[in-house]
Amino acid sequence: MKFNIATIPGDGIGPEVIEETILVLNKIGEIYGHEFSFQEVLAGGIAIDKTGKPLPEETVEVCKNSDAVLLGAVGGPKWDTLPGDQRPEKALLGLRGALGLYANLRPAVLYTALKEASPLRSDIVEQGIDICVVRELTGGIYFGERGRKKEGKMGEEAYDTEAYSVGEVERIARTAFEIAMKRDKRVTSVDKANILESSRLWRSVVVEVAKDYPEVALDHMYVDNAAMQLIRYPQQFDVIVTSNMFGDILSDEASMLTGSIGMLPSASLAEGNLGMYEPIHGSAPDIAGENKANPIATILSAAMMLRYSLQLDKEAQVIEEAVIKVLEKNYRTGDIMSKGMTLVGTQEMGKLIVGEL
Ligand code: ATP
Ligand code: MG
Repeated sequence: MKFNIATIPGDGIGPEVIEETILVLNKIGEIYGHEFSFQEVLAGGIAIDKTGKPLPEETVEVCKNSDAVLLGAVGGPKWDTLPGDQRPEKALLGLRGALGLYANLRPAVLYTALKEASPLRSDIVEQGIDICVVRELTGGIYFGERGRKKEGKMGEEAYDTEAYSVGEVERIARTAFEIAMKRDKRVTSVDKANILESSRLWRSVVVEVAKDYPEVALDHMYVDNAAMQLIRYPQQFDVIVTSNMFGDILSDEASMLTGSIGMLPSASLAEGNLGMYEPIHGSAPDIAGENKANPIATILSAAMMLRYSLQLDKEAQVIEEAVIKVLEKNYRTGDIMSKGMTLVGTQEMGKLIVGEL
């Protein structure tokens, strides 16, 4: 099969980690008889420098007409003094909107080879961690009505409102159940239904959607309890589905259980098969251009791309297994380095993973 992939290397370490990821995908194509056609486009700081805008129209057009988008990272100190609406990070928001990316998937996986990086107790870590947070991305309090009122009880007031429609909740819930079907068939819906009306609607819609997935076990948890349970006993979770704001917080919390920012991929999905895939880390300007960046988060993002946008489950799994094999052979980039391990650079890490496919 032939697939068109838009690549956005972006800024800082972005181009370095994308380069290794393309090598991995090309090798997968060679092994399994797929053709990946990459079209590189501009976004972020480099786009500002070359076109004056963080997200040129051409980039949006190319991404819309692709099977999937693979992004490195955007931003850096060079553009930090620009006004908010001209910053490189605006490109991400722009792409979310233009591509209709409504679901953000953030897996938090703790590899046993890297268990010393986790801040959790060793008896918890021994059991491994494999959670996927599914965050609603285009609704809720981040997009609700907001404003200021001159007169309040104690002076000027500010407000932000959370609104969710049945359709919005249904869509994200369905995504979560579909993902659970490919995993351990457990969904925890996180809300604050003891207080918030939007959470009560959320909960009732999730219960309805669950009826279409009788094989999946559903439970509900209040967000304060979920924050606590993630630290206390993360193994109780498989898929967590939650609102935009709760998901923002819980996905950061879940990812830090693994202790390795350079290892964590993410996906943002639109209706249909289109998705955007990127590492959770930023552009890491402190190590850019030094062949030090860990490319694994981006390579694992490409594996998610194969699974969720291109329906190539087997190929995705082969990439994930190659990463594990390289870790088990004790190769490490600087960010995951520990005593007795072999330190390698970005390009060596890429080659090692290609070699294990
Ligand atoms: P942003 O605002 O883009 O999120 P940030 O500075 O908050 O940027 P990162 O760019 O993710 O966050 O960097 C945080 C730290 O983690 C830095 O010290 C960086 O060098 C390190 N880091 C991030 N990604 C990687 C990676 N892939 N490999 C090695 N180190 C990394
Ligand atoms: Mg940051």
